[in-house]
Amino acid sequence: MKKLRLILGDQLNHNHSWYRDDDADTWYFIAEMRQETDYARHHIQKVVAFFEAMAEFAAWLKARGKNVIHYTLDHPDNTQKLGTNIAALVAKHEFACFQYQLPDEYRLDQQLQQLADDLSITTEACDSEHFLTERNTLSEFFEGKKSLLMESFYRHMRKQHDILLTSAGEPEGGQWNFDQSNRKKWNGKPEIPHERGFRKNVAKTVSRLEKGDVATIGTIDPKQFSWPTSREDALAVLRHFCSELLPHFGDYQDAMHDREVYLFHSRLSFALNSKLLHPQEVIDKAIEHWRAHKSEIDISQIEGFVRQILGWREYMRGIYWKSMPGYRRCNRLQNQKALPDFYWSGDTDMHCLHHAIRNSLDNAYAHHIQRLMVTGNFALLAQVHPDEVDAWYLGIYIDAIEWVEMPNTRGMSQFADGGLVATKPYVSSGSYIHKMSNYCDSCRYNVKERTSDDACPFNSLYWHFIEEKRELLAHNPRMSMMFHQLDKMSDSDRKALRKRARAIIQDPDKF
Ligand SMILES: Cc1cc2nc3c(=O)[nH]c(=O)nc-3n(C[C@H](O)[C@H](O)[C@H](O)COP(=O)(O)OP(=O)(O)OC[C@H]3O[C@@H](n4cnc5c(N)ncnc54)[C@H](O)[C@@H]3O)c2cc1C
Ligand code: SF4
Repeated sequence: MKKLRLILGDQLNHNHSWYRDDDADTWYFIAEMRQETDYARHHIQKVVAFFEAMAEFAAWLKARGKNVIHYTLDHPDNTQKLGTNIAALVAKHEFACFQYQLPDEYRLDQQLQQLADDLSITTEACDSEHFLTERNTLSEFFEGKKSLLMESFYRHMRKQHDILLTSAGEPEGGQWNFDQSNRKKWNGKPEIPHERGFRKNVAKTVSRLEKGDVATIGTIDPKQFSWPTSREDALAVLRHFCSELLPHFGDYQDAMHDREVYLFHSRLSFALNSKLLHPQEVIDKAIEHWRAHKSEIDISQIEGFVRQILGWREYMRGIYWKSMPGYRRCNRLQNQKALPDFYWSGDTDMHCLHHAIRNSLDNAYAHHIQRLMVTGNFALLAQVHPDEVDAWYLGIYIDAIEWVEMPNTRGMSQFADGGLVATKPYVSSGSYIHKMSNYCDSCRYNVKERTSDDACPFNSLYWHFIEEKRELLAHNPRMSMMFHQLDKMSDSDRKALRKRARAIIQDPDKF
C-alpha cells in the first residue's frame, strides 16, 4: 500500500521504528511552513535551528534510501499549511494511507485529528517513541489525589525505571533529592570549560527567512551558529556536558553571573525537544560517566541532572495533557498588565533583567533560574497578564514548544493555575537575586533599599504583591510566614512600599 508518513519539525527521532521498515512504497514528508513560523513570534535562532535540523534529518533519511519529500519555505508546491499540503500530496501521488506520530502540542493534535477525519484514505496515528511516559501517565498516577507534587512523581519514576537505586531499591547516596546542595553562588571559580566544537554557517536558511519576510525576534550570527542540529552534534554536546560540566552541574544550577551565559548547564533542551536525543540515552550516558568517575563527581551533581529530565520534563508533559485546553486560559491571580517593552530590548536599568533578557535575545537561551527568578519573577510581581508572559516565553527560547513552555510559564512561574504545579508563587525580593548572582554589584539600584528612588524595584514589588494577592492566597499555608511579616510592618512602611510599587507597575519601562 502506498503510504505517506508525516514528520513534524520536533519529531526528528533517528531511532523511531518507522525507519527500520524497508518499504519502497513509503514516502516521508517533512516541511517548513508558514503556519509554524507564524503561530508565535519566534526567535530567529529557534526557527533556524528547526529548519536546519529538519534539512539534516531529510538528508539522513535520503542517505538510507528512503523516499523523502522535503519542502523548504520557498518550494513551489508548498501551500504553507499542513492540511492543504497533505491533501495535495495524497491527490498527486495517490497515497492509500496517511500515518503520523502523535504530536506533543494540543494545537497540532487537533489539526491532525481533523485532517485524518477529512481524508478519505486510511489514516493511522502512532507513538513518537520519545518520552518515558504516556500522555496520561501523570493523570493516572495522581488519580484521586489533591496535590500533584513533582517529588512523588519523580520518586515513582526513579523506581519504575530503576534509576540511581541500590540493589535494595533505596536511592543511591541515601537521599532521593539533593536539591538543598544545589544552591551555590558562582564567583568565577571553578573555571567553566566552554564548548568549542562545531560552528555552522546557516546563512542560506537565514536568507530564506528574510526573503519570506518571516517576522522573528532576537539576533543571530549566521556564520557561527552553535546549536546542535544533527544527531552527531547533539551527541557531541552531550559528551561535552558529561565530561566537562556534570562535575559541577548541581552545585551551580541556580547560580547566575553577568559574564556567563550557560555556566554549567547542558544546553541539551533543543536536542531533546526536537527528539534528536532520547531522554533515556541522556540519563544513561550521564549516569555511566558519573559511575566511571564517582571519586571526582558527587552524587548530588548527577541526581540534580536526572531530576530535571526524568522528573520535571516528564511531569510538565503530564500536566500539559491533563490540563489542556483549559490551561491556556487560566489566570488565577487575575493579573491584567501589559508586558513591559524592555522585554523585547533588554533596555532597563535593572541589571538582572537587562542581562537575562539580552542573554535571551542574543542566544535564544536563559537558564532555568533566570527564567523563573528574574524575568518570570518580575512579570508576576508587575502583575502582567499570563497571556503576554506566555507569548514571550513561547517565542524567545530555542527549546520553547508549548507542551513544556506553558506549564513552566503559566504554572510554575506565574502561578496562573492556582498551584497545580507550584506549591506557592515563585516570587522574591532582590535579596534572592543578590544571593545567587553578581548582578546587584553593578546595578544602578540598591538591593538593600526598599522605598528610596534608588531602591531595588523587586523589593517594593514583592511586598506589594503579598499585600495585593493576600485574599487569593489566604488559604495557602506556605504563604503564612510572608503575611505575618507584612503584618509586623508599620502602616507608614507599608504605605511607602505600596506607593513605590504602584509607580513601578504603572510604568515599568521608566526603571
Ligand atoms: C518560565 C519558564 C519557561 C520555560 N520554558 C521552557 C521551554 O519552553 N522548553 C523547555 O525545554 N524548558 C523550559 N523551561 C525549563 C528550563 O528552564 C529549560 O529546560 C532549561 O533552561 C534548558 O536549558 P539546558 O538544556 O541548559 O538545561 P539544564 O539545566 O542543563 O537541564 C537539563 C535538561 O533538563 C530538562 N529540564 C530542566 N528543567 C526543566 C523544566 N522545568 N521543565 C522541563 N524540562 C526541564 C531540559 O530538557 C534540560 O535540557 C522553562 C522554565 C521556566 C521557569
Ligand atoms: S539591585 Fe535589584 S534590580 Fe538591580 S540587579 Fe539586584 S535585584 Fe536586580
